[in-house]
Amino acid sequence: MKQFSDMSAVLAARHRDGLLRQRVELQSAQSVTPIIDGKPLLSFCSNDYLGLAGDDRIAQAMSQAVERYGVGAGASHLIDGHHHEHERLEQELAEFCGREAALVFSTGYMANIGVIQALLTRHDTVIQDRLNHASLIDGGRLSGAKFSRYAHNDSDNLAQQLDRASGKKLVVTDGVFSMDGDKAPLDDLASVCRSHDAWLMVDDAHGFGVLGTEGAGLVSEFGLTTEDVPVVIGTLGKAFGTSGAFVAGDQLTIDYLLQYARSYIYTTASPPAVAAATRASLAIVRNSNDRRAHLTALIQKLRAGIQALGLTLMPSETPIQPILIGESHHAMQLSQALKARGILVTAIRPPTVPEGTARLRVTLSAQHSEAQVDTLLNTLESLL
Ligand code: PMP
Repeated sequence: MKQFSDMSAVLAARHRDGLLRQRVELQSAQSVTPIIDGKPLLSFCSNDYLGLAGDDRIAQAMSQAVERYGVGAGASHLIDGHHHEHERLEQELAEFCGREAALVFSTGYMANIGVIQALLTRHDTVIQDRLNHASLIDGGRLSGAKFSRYAHNDSDNLAQQLDRASGKKLVVTDGVFSMDGDKAPLDDLASVCRSHDAWLMVDDAHGFGVLGTEGAGLVSEFGLTTEDVPVVIGTLGKAFGTSGAFVAGDQLTIDYLLQYARSYIYTTASPPAVAAATRASLAIVRNSNDRRAHLTALIQKLRAGIQALGLTLMPSETPIQPILIGESHHAMQLSQALKARGILVTAIRPPTVPEGTARLRVTLSAQHSEAQVDTLLNTLESLL
């Protein structure tokens, strides 16, 4: 065991630098007022953007499906774990995204590593936005393809890198960036990809359910077709309130991924009841314009209030509203002071974000009230 003896020193250093990651333990359903350590906190950190994680209708659909189909899938999709609830969900998601077909994965992390790895070989090239989510970066590395990153949201820099690329070319971007909240310029990226004969893959984890007509996401907000964006990823554990993810595209691409995406093939299928719950959620998401309008109003209110306090916001129009603090310890102190006053806001620190850009990452949910946003603003003011 001697060779692993550096672990305690590494952890001590992380602690000293204010970088030790810690969990809180929920004792209630996910909501804007979860019970933590026996008392309700006002939370601004979940990705439950539409407030559906604790929705009774979805919970009921899930428990009915558990009654009918039991708790586990019992096998991987290609053995006999593929349930008709998975099949129906795939069809409904494909239709929702305006794509021919979709494939449901157990998590977004698995979808991203599986899809990128399946599409590329070491003779190919993957080019990713510098701020992409870790799962996309990991997928790129696992694929063995030549791997480079372009400057954040910079389509000119992407074009320069594509000029030098060889083999099949896959360009990968988050739709909404998970730590900054800004949107990728999908129209520019799609046009650069078209002129370089490259494929564009968009991970719309944070846009899906929130942006676009009926919540069909950022790709839909830009009105981009399969030609522009051949590979769309959506996750189901955020605005949809359940769990899992999917890739949508043309039938040929999905047929191919079914054969080659290792993280789809070599894992137990998610419980059929999760698929049933997600189908119920999809119907609600499509009908949730009122929730999306309320969310937009909350975003505007929060931004105006934070700016009035003289704090630095990032250029985000989405429910992800990071307040730039800079130094890790300072971000941690603010997060802890808020928690002591009953408010949960996560401090995001390096290595998750670049050095010197530690932030308080406020995420809003349609479940928040205007009064709760006021509480956050007033409490922040009292700490400055
Ligand atoms: N992509 C992005 C952009 C994400 O933010 C996340 C999760 N935070 C994922 C993928 C992974 O999705 P999942 O949580 O379903 O694994």
